[in-house]
Formats: sequence, C-alpha cells, structure tokens
Amino acid sequence: MSERQAGNAVRLQVAREDAFSTDETLHSGEREFLMRRIRQSLRTQDAVLVAHYYTAPDIQRLADETGGIVSDSLEMARFGYEHPASTVVVAGVRFMGETAKILSPEKRVIMPTLEATCSLDLGCPADEFAAFCDQHPDRTVVVYANTSAAVKARADWVVTSSIAVDVIRHLHARGEKILWAPDKHLGDYVRRESGADVLLWDGACIVHEEFKAVELEQMRARNPQARVLVHPESPAGVIEQADVVGSTSQLLRAVTELDADTFIVATDSGLFHKMREAAPGRTFLEAPTAGRSATCNSCAHCPWMAMNGLRNLDTALQSGADEIHVDEAVARRAMVSLGRMLDFGRTRRKEVVGAGDA
Ligand code: SF4
Repeated sequence: MSERQAGNAVRLQVAREDAFSTDETLHSGEREFLMRRIRQSLRTQDAVLVAHYYTAPDIQRLADETGGIVSDSLEMARFGYEHPASTVVVAGVRFMGETAKILSPEKRVIMPTLEATCSLDLGCPADEFAAFCDQHPDRTVVVYANTSAAVKARADWVVTSSIAVDVIRHLHARGEKILWAPDKHLGDYVRRESGADVLLWDGACIVHEEFKAVELEQMRARNPQARVLVHPESPAGVIEQADVVGSTSQLLRAVTELDADTFIVATDSGLFHKMREAAPGRTFLEAPTAGRSATCNSCAHCPWMAMNGLRNLDTALQSGADEIHVDEAVARRAMVSLGRMLDFGRTRRKEVVGAGDA
C-alpha cells in the first residue's frame, strides 16, 4: 500500500466512524428548534443554502423551503454563482465549497464541516498529479469536479458527470488526446462512450465502487420488471446492466420519464429522498453492495456527505467558522478550467432548449 493509499485509509476510517452519528441523536424538539434557527439565520445573514442530493433529507428540505437548491455539483456551482446572496452555505463535500468560492470570490462561503471530503479528492494529491501531467504534455488535462482547487488549477478542463461524455466527445472531435483524473470508472465509461484516447489516473469513489455486478444480476432476476439506474462512477460490470447511466440529476429525471414501478438504483441512497418526491408510490431498491457485512459502513451512502447535519449547519451559521478560503493565485488558474465547464454547460443548455422549442 502506498503512503497516499495508507493516508486515505486512515482518513476514511475516521470519516466512517463519525459519519452516521451526525443527527441521529436529535430528539424532535431539538430538530424543530435547529430547523427554525437555521431558517432565521439564512434570512438575517443574507445567505442561501445549496445542498447536494446525497445530504440528509432535513438539509434538503431546508434548502428547498428557504429558496436554495438541492442538486448535483454542476447545478450547485451555477446556482451559488448566480444567486445574489452574499453568503453561500454549501452542504456537501469540501470541493463543492471550494468551487463555490472560486466562482464567487467576493462572497462568504461556509460549510457545516470542512472535514467532509471525498475519496476522489484525497486520492489525487496536487503534486503527484502535476508530475503525472508533466509526463504527458501532449494530452489535454480534464479533471472531474471532485478534486481540490490545486488540481483544478493544473487542468485545462473541469467536468461533472452530467457533461463529461459531451466534453470528451467535443475534445476528441478536435483531435485531442485526453489525460483524465481522478475517477477511473467514470474515465473508462467516458472513453468507451466517446471513442477518445483517454489516459486514466487511478482513483475511485468508495461508495460507487462497492456496487457489485454479479449480485446486481441476481437482483434483476428477482425483479424482472425493475429498471436499473446507474451512476457512471460505478464499475463497468454494473454500468453494462443499466437502463440509464447518468449523473444524479439525470437519474432523478429518469424516474419520472421511464414507465416502471420499481427501480434498482446504483448511486448514493441520499438521492432516494428526491426520487420518492418526484415519483411517489414507486419502489426504489438499493443496488447490491459488498456490505451487509460488518466491514462496509459506507455502502450506498457517502460517509463524508453524512457529516452534514443540522447541528453543524446551525453552528456554522452561528459562529461563521468553517469558512472556505482558496489561495488567490490557485483560484485564478482554477477559474479558467471551471469557466470552460460552465460555458460548455450554458451552450449545451441553450441547444437543448432550442431543440425542445423546435
Ligand atoms: S459519494 Fe463518492 S464521489 Fe461523491 S463525495 Fe462521496 S466519496 Fe466523493
């Protein structure tokens, strides 16, 4: 095991131990009190709550009720950037807070906890990544949004899972060879979909990597009418069985568009909250993971996303601690690759709307 992998294992263990305790001990009076105080703080502090689909239902409800947003990382970034509030409260993991700060340096960006990170971010240290890029100067460097500001600063493009295939197809059509980091499963999927020459960094999401192809086949056999929805951070054998492969927003849309009563879902179970809202009465089954055994606490739920709770959200608003800061020079360079992603997403949205209008 390399030093990097050993460090990750320790940090992951800490995250797993902390994870599911965040709000579990709240009694209903305390929960109501915290929700009321958070609503009030958001109002008085000119703050907007931007939450990821993988956060707890209470956090998602608060974001919806108070004029914020619950979404995927691309839409969170866009929303925080365009919203007039002077403070953006990001409930998610650290790279999402950093992205919000890079896009809106004049705004205060706070998070319930700065400890919430991501195995993809941890597994791609900026210095090692820069050395890897230096070995392949002929390749366009494309990184997934789940990376540190310093890694984004070294990249030519940032992408999210919702636009990764489109961006790589676009670059492939221009004759460019790609260096992709950090998620090897998503990178492999993008490579197969686009036909591009893609060199992969060796990283993975600890949640999606747990989904198991053989057990999924067995679950499909037991539920032959079910449709299978898969996030492309999952292994290839799981992706191959999907009716729909897509980002969290794309999977959420699929439950309203597909004619099915039952869905088997291979992504973080936090998304089930919005899926049940969007398609009430349907059945959502977690795709099988390795982990009904005692060794896998993170199965189908990200231990870092689970660190976001009402208590630490309230504390962050009360104290102003857990504010995100990004080095100015790093932020300026990262803004170039992030800006390309946002421009590409904007153009594609116009094309989709235009096609729909036609
Ligand atoms: S679910 Fe995976 S990719 Fe998403 S934040 Fe958690 S570890 Fe990172």
